[in-house]
Amino acid sequence: MKWYQKLHWKIIIGMVLGLVWGIVAVMMGWQEFTLDWISPWGKIFINMLKLIAVPLVLTSLIVGVASLSDVKKLSRMGGKTIAIYLSTTAIAVTIGLLSVNLFKPGNSIPSELTNKLKKSYQASVESKTSNAKKAQSRGPLQPIIDMVPSNMIQASANNRNMLQVVIVAILFGIALIQIENSKSDQLISILDNANEVVLKVVDMAMMLAPFGVFSLLSNTIVSVAGNDIGQIIDLISALGFYCFVVILALLLHAGVTFPILIKFFTPMKLSTFFKGIAPAQLVAFSTSSSGATLPVTMERCEKNLGVDEEVSSFVLPLGSTINMDGTALYQAVAAVFIAQATGIDLTFGDQLTIIFTAVLASVGTVAIPGAGIIMLLIVLEAIGVPSAGIALILGVDRILDMLRTTVNVTGDAAVCVLIAHQEGQLGTPHLTDKDEPHFRMNRDDK
Ligand code: ASP
Repeated sequence: MKWYQKLHWKIIIGMVLGLVWGIVAVMMGWQEFTLDWISPWGKIFINMLKLIAVPLVLTSLIVGVASLSDVKKLSRMGGKTIAIYLSTTAIAVTIGLLSVNLFKPGNSIPSELTNKLKKSYQASVESKTSNAKKAQSRGPLQPIIDMVPSNMIQASANNRNMLQVVIVAILFGIALIQIENSKSDQLISILDNANEVVLKVVDMAMMLAPFGVFSLLSNTIVSVAGNDIGQIIDLISALGFYCFVVILALLLHAGVTFPILIKFFTPMKLSTFFKGIAPAQLVAFSTSSSGATLPVTMERCEKNLGVDEEVSSFVLPLGSTINMDGTALYQAVAAVFIAQATGIDLTFGDQLTIIFTAVLASVGTVAIPGAGIIMLLIVLEAIGVPSAGIALILGVDRILDMLRTTVNVTGDAAVCVLIAHQEGQLGTPHLTDKDEPHFRMNRDDK
């Protein structure tokens, strides 16, 4: 297979062409054409991915749980997964805090720029603040109440309710273990077949991926730049140092923490991991949504990295909703940056509060574009920094969102491989894009 026939290269080529098209469109005044005729293909691509997410999680998780020999294994795997997710997120926040305290990007922002940015983003800050207030005014146990749906159809009707779908699938799966085999086997085999069908739809969506990312990237450039490409350059030069610190910290986490997990705690080669997961990273980068990327992450982990469906169908949907290392790291850097730029001194206690609230805020962040900045307001409030400060960073949020989402998805996949290895359910990886069978343990072997 030639290099350009490989999926991740096709996606990279699509991204680069999308970037070039976006810049040319702004310079030549082709924005309307781009928005009318090119952007819709990106939306179609995202819609296809979202369309598959709920059926994929339902079918694969019910079959996965029903195939477990006992329910104890589920609670053990669940406890371990959540503990590792929270620990890696806390490490990410710590890396973010160390970087922003070391480089102090906020100290180099002139106060005229602070005022100008605050003025131009005032309306947007107000609407985000009211969203964050809504999220905050709920009782302490509200997140747990929200996890249990009162209506299954409604829960599956919105991808934002992925955690509810996970709960429904686990309940069904546990119930299936408890009824007679003669009754459960038929239903499991139907769901298993349905799962194969859904995975074929993922393949079809991935055939669209290079065109989808071309369209998404050109749309992002045209929407951010408006009529003037200079706007992007001005913003990047003003906030370049802040972006540099966020990107450096994200790279450190993705290039050190995850490799340590894979290299020292699993038998997988680093190159295998990164090659296997690359298409999911590229889709995450282009869509800025770990929720929309979930079907691709699941497919890559099962088909290319050799993770048993029983593990991936549980660990990955949970990860896409609660494990956001990139988002938490970004929230920590952004909070300290705003404090520095507005001249607020943070104590050591404030920094500890950031670790705690950023981990929780990232757990509560919805897996869609731009959600991280809304939950950032909760972190700001906890350390007494005015929420209007997010005006400083709104302009570059979209670009950083693409990067933090990529780290979020990489983190989910790394923990998934780790758990699969610990559970003895990591098979041989297949790195070709050919139609390899999914790794699946024979139910009779257990
Ligand atoms: N876009 C991110 C995600 O979907 C969430 C965020 O805004 O940080 O993972």
